[in-house]
Order: sequence, then C-alpha cells, then structure tokens
Amino acid sequence: MTKTIRQSLLTTLFMALVVSACSSSPTGRKQLVLKSDAELEQEGTRQFRALQEQVPLVKNGNTIDFVACVADAIVGELEGDYADLYWELAVVDQPDVNAFVMPGGKIVVKAGILGIVENQHQLAAVLGHEVAHVTAHHSNERASRAMLAGVGIDVAAILLGGGYSNQTRGAYEALSAGASLGIMNPFNRKQETEADVVGLEYMARAGFDPRESVALWKIMNEKNKTNIPEYMSTHPSGETRIENLVAQYPKALALYNEAQAQGKNPNCDR
Ligand SMILES: [Zn+2]
Repeated sequence: MTKTIRQSLLTTLFMALVVSACSSSPTGRKQLVLKSDAELEQEGTRQFRALQEQVPLVKNGNTIDFVACVADAIVGELEGDYADLYWELAVVDQPDVNAFVMPGGKIVVKAGILGIVENQHQLAAVLGHEVAHVTAHHSNERASRAMLAGVGIDVAAILLGGGYSNQTRGAYEALSAGASLGIMNPFNRKQETEADVVGLEYMARAGFDPRESVALWKIMNEKNKTNIPEYMSTHPSGETRIENLVAQYPKALALYNEAQAQGKNPNCDR
C-alpha cells in the first residue's frame, strides 16, 4: 500500500467515525457519541456489582419497597431500548444525601436522601432526573469527549510516523484512566439542565406531581445554608434551576393531568 492511499484511508476512517458519532439528545441537543453503549453498560454494571459488595445496603423492606415503587413507575414510562434495559436499584445504608446513576441503568440511592424527601413525588423528582441522565446518553457523551482527545493523540502519533512515544503513551493512559473514572464525576451544567427537563417529564407521565420537584430543590437550598448535602455539591441548584423547572410547568402539568385521567396514580408512600 502506498503512503498516499494509507493516509487517505486513515482520513476516511476518521471522518466516518466523526460522522457516525453525531447524535441528538432527547431535547434535540447535538451530541458527540463515540463510545459503544454496550461497553459503557458493561463498565456501569461492573462498578454497580462492586458497590453492592462494598457498601452496607438497607435491609428494611418498607424502605426498599418505597424506593422501588417510585423507580418502577418512572422506568415504566420509558420506551424503546431504555424500556428493555436491565434497570437495577441499590438503596445504600449511608447517611449521605445523595443519589446517582451508572450506565446500564444502575440506580444508587443513599438513605440520607430519604430523610430529606417529604413524599413519593419528591423522590420521583430525584429518580426522574437520574434516569434522564441515562436515556440522554450523558455518560457516553462525557466518555466520548475524553476519547476524542485520545484519538487526537493516536492520529498525531501515527501521522508523525511512529508508534507511541513514551510521552504520548503516558498522556493517552492518563486520559483513559480519566475517562473510566468519569463514570462517577459530576455531569456538566447543560447535562444537568437537560436531566431536569427530561426527568420532570418522566415523573409527570408516571403520575407524580411535577410541582414537587421545585418544592424539593427549595428544601435542598434551605439545607444548603447550614450543611451542604452531597447531592447539592454534584447538582448545583439555586434560583436558575428552579426558574427552569417552573418554565416547564405548562407541559409537565398537562402530562400529569393526562396521567391522572389514565388512572396513573402511584401510591408509594411510606
Ligand atoms: Zn444530575
């Protein structure tokens, strides 16, 4: 193969990778999705299993039923591939006010947050938000950005005519380590807003009162003044977040009323 053909082949491969990578999120935002979902889902499942082995889990049946009831109602509203995903839940017996999700639909709720939520609707606000991070491909988007930086290094190394120098190899490994640790890192502001909007829709469709999401954020903001809940450190709130949610009320309330009319009236209270 001549050098010219080899180079143009590389360019074509690279272009194909970038072109096939353009996707759009549930709110129509353009996203870069380079990683395979299956790969991330496998990694999410692996991390979830490790967590289940390493942390104390809540044993109280009523508490587990409460969280599972709300999670089931939310997940029950999903369609397509995400409805088929093997969603799992771990209720962790730790006082942290926190909840998060891992690729593959692995939801983690820490007991502390159950002491903050006043009712099923507020827990639905938290879980709707977390489920939306999954259906909006947020982990993939984040891992893809790191990967794209890695690809840049690979292509550069190839075009420079060598394999990996020690230097590029070190940089590449640092990036991959970052990408894998990225599963637990906070999402960015745009992704948080998107998870709020999509999550509000999920809770309303399931028959939970969307206005309780704002009530929850107000409670969190109040707690924030004395002792910052962990959830608030990864989910910076404040007036902007509340205003964004209130702006979604017309649509969310219409969906909520529709759900009520269809007899969707979850009864998950403790
Ligand atoms: Zn979030």
